[in-house]
Amino acid sequence: MKIVYSEEYLKHRHAGYHPERPERLVSIREALKGVSIWEEHLLTPGAVDLRHLKEVHSEGHIARIREFGVGWMDPDTYHDERTYEIALLASGGAVAAALHTYDKKEPTLALLRPPGHHAGRDYNGGFCYFNNIAVAARALQMERGVKRVAIVDVDVHHGNGTHDIFLSDPTVLYISTHQWGIYPGTGPLEEVGRGDGEGYTVNLPLYSGHGDGTFRMLMDEIILPILREFSPGALLVSLGLDAHYMDPLASLTLSSPAYVELLLKLKEAADDLSEGRISYMLEGGYNLDALAEVFRGLALHLTGRGEEAEYRYSDVSDPGDGGRVKRLKEEHGKYWKI
Ligand SMILES: [Zn+2]
Repeated sequence: MKIVYSEEYLKHRHAGYHPERPERLVSIREALKGVSIWEEHLLTPGAVDLRHLKEVHSEGHIARIREFGVGWMDPDTYHDERTYEIALLASGGAVAAALHTYDKKEPTLALLRPPGHHAGRDYNGGFCYFNNIAVAARALQMERGVKRVAIVDVDVHHGNGTHDIFLSDPTVLYISTHQWGIYPGTGPLEEVGRGDGEGYTVNLPLYSGHGDGTFRMLMDEIILPILREFSPGALLVSLGLDAHYMDPLASLTLSSPAYVELLLKLKEAADDLSEGRISYMLEGGYNLDALAEVFRGLALHLTGRGEEAEYRYSDVSDPGDGGRVKRLKEEHGKYWKI
């Protein structure tokens, strides 16, 4: 297991309070150091190759992020002196993680800031500037000739940027679990991709209160079967921790142990389908304790020390909403054997 991280990621910051803040990464870093999982696992990235970035974003968008200056790009997304430079480094981290995992067949945890999944070809939004995971998917295709890449997005928000970038593309499967009715308002169940990409967008909108039980059902009955049928050469995970019940920005109710369990099921799928090629890339997640606990649990498991994982945030309030899962299966069952 490798950890992709740069101290530079801490230098993108808003002068006032903003939930997408450097302390998020500090909390994860200290939690991992606390269980002696740090130095020997570190892989320090460089800035993204602009050839990779331009496969995802227009020249106009890249220029706008480069030249914006200090201020608000939209009501959620600030820009400071170093944002452009550090956003390039975040996308570079995503690419470094994906290529390392591809070549070495070992998992990577990419502790990236700023996040990326709300950035589309021509737009920023939701604390995101460049779509790190989309750039990584394109780099795998360009540099390693990977035919099929799967992205599973467990952030509580719909990854509208990733969704839009691959909407017509059957070579990149996009599966997203997200809370319906919150930012950015996209990702309805019925949006399944367009043209050649029809069926390769799998939106799984959920409701306030859905958590451990419903996610387990989704994983076993929808996500894993679709991944097996798609048979990706690499699996990338948009790992947002904001579906955690402690998160202040949303109201899904995943617990820490359930998060880790779900992420390890994706690892097992990658072991079966793509020789263990899985990269987890940080997106959102704003409760510092939840971030620490889930990443520590995941890292312990990925380094063979799973029995040491301990969780404070393990309440389980959702036994599983079979009716909702049935409805989601009906829609995506038009395209997949689920
Ligand atoms: Zn989010």
